[in-house]
Amino acid sequence: MTRGLRPEQVWGIGLADEAGTAVSTALGSGYVLRNWPIGSHPTERDIARATPLVIFVVKDGWDALPPDTRKGIEEWEIPQRVLVLGASQSVADFEEVLENGFLSAISEPLTDKKVRDVIFRAKEVKSLYDDIFRMTREIMLERELLARKTDLVLFLNRILSRASESLDPVVILDNAREDLQLLLPLHGLMGAFWQTGDTENLEAELFLEPDMEQAAEQHWTEQLLFQAAKIAGKPIHSYKASFLEGAPDHAPVGIPAAPEELITLPLRAGGQMFGLLVLYRAKGRPLGKDQVQALYASINHLALALKNAALFSQVKIRADHDGLTRIHNRRAFDERLIDELRRHQRYHHPMSLLMIDIDHFKGINDRYGHLVGDHVLREVGRILSDTLRSTDFTARYGGEEFVVILPQTVEEHSRLLAERLRGLIAEAQFVHDGEPFAITVSIGVATILPGALTKRKELLEKADKALYQAKHLGRNQVCTALGGVSRASEMPLEAAQAG
Ligand code: GH3
Ligand code: MG
Ligand code: MG
Repeated sequence: MTRGLRPEQVWGIGLADEAGTAVSTALGSGYVLRNWPIGSHPTERDIARATPLVIFVVKDGWDALPPDTRKGIEEWEIPQRVLVLGASQSVADFEEVLENGFLSAISEPLTDKKVRDVIFRAKEVKSLYDDIFRMTREIMLERELLARKTDLVLFLNRILSRASESLDPVVILDNAREDLQLLLPLHGLMGAFWQTGDTENLEAELFLEPDMEQAAEQHWTEQLLFQAAKIAGKPIHSYKASFLEGAPDHAPVGIPAAPEELITLPLRAGGQMFGLLVLYRAKGRPLGKDQVQALYASINHLALALKNAALFSQVKIRADHDGLTRIHNRRAFDERLIDELRRHQRYHHPMSLLMIDIDHFKGINDRYGHLVGDHVLREVGRILSDTLRSTDFTARYGGEEFVVILPQTVEEHSRLLAERLRGLIAEAQFVHDGEPFAITVSIGVATILPGALTKRKELLEKADKALYQAKHLGRNQVCTALGGVSRASEMPLEAAQAG
């Protein structure tokens, strides 16, 4: 067999001139014989450079080699060796010839037929060897492919199960960043969602990496809003930003140097695009086909989990808020008060509760009608939420009563704040049929001191008592309930009252 134009090599160890000529003649063109005289032998370097089809090993030449050398040559998997016996030599046991790794033994004189038989058999064996090599290679490739597929399945399974562990987009995105790191090294992961449907005024919710420098935060905010508008096909009118936890030991994310470092992936669920993720990848090789496939599959999984999370938060917002005033409802307040009391007990902070009741509200309804009454309730809700800090918690307690939780606020501060709210509400101008009117509120303040083991019910009762006191003392005022003793507000009561 010839490979291209290069003649195939046949080697000899210890072939005498006559035997060498006989072999060369029998081989004909297309082969070249290379012979090592008795006492010498081919080395590892020779075999590394060329693989002969067969080596004719003269018995005397073989016996003349040191045992270690013979052993070394026996360990070569290829080429085949054929033992050449002198005319007067014979082998006692042919099994031994085979055991020593010889393909066969032939005796001198070396006729054309003997040599060609050897070549024929050597070729047969070589072709078997080639088949085995090829099959082994295929099996290894198959195994490699299977291993990769298994990795992919494990990876997708991990992404999917972790994504469905939580209904909080921040947790889902933090987990996703960690999992996607297995696929491609990331500097950061950020995202934007927007509401689907027929709204013209799109509101986006952005999820940003934490602790960024101001310039980087601005860059990413603009980038996300730009991409969101592009994918949504509508301008984004307003947005709210939330921050992820960030990778453990994260360095603040910076501004990407080149657009190639960003992979923007739209999020789709139920045939609608509702968001996008931007992967900020570390510099490296372009993604392979497998990686791209895995990335798309995982983003599809993530999209479903994120859509669920978005729906859940919408449902939760609805369940926690009062339909008329849009501030928190009593259910949300009850939950929050339990949390805040727990925090108060753990951290030994003071905390206060305001109970606010509109004065003579029945009279407003009677005089101006229920719709105007509703409008007044909405306005009071708005004044409360506009005035208070985001850490304070405002809720409609029921009817025309409102409550405010003031964490970490001592009695005196709470009383001043209540006075401020009372004043703002009294100043609010209402008009009905051209007739201006104003309203007032009474406020009860209850404070629990750091370390006090006050129960929820006790705190509510104290605030309620203080409120009752404020009503009793003439309304449009603030009373506090520390230690059960109420004090009337020193503020003047000049604001107009309805009813
Ligand atoms: P006080 O100064 O003692 O608090 O007198 P008040 O009239 O405010 O108290 P009362 O409890 O007698 O009346 C509360 C009124 O609030 C009665 C009820 O019809 C009205 N109200 C409760 N919820 C709503 C609402 O959602 N919309 C309107 N318009 N009125 C409501
Ligand atoms: Mg009331
Ligand atoms: Mg009232």
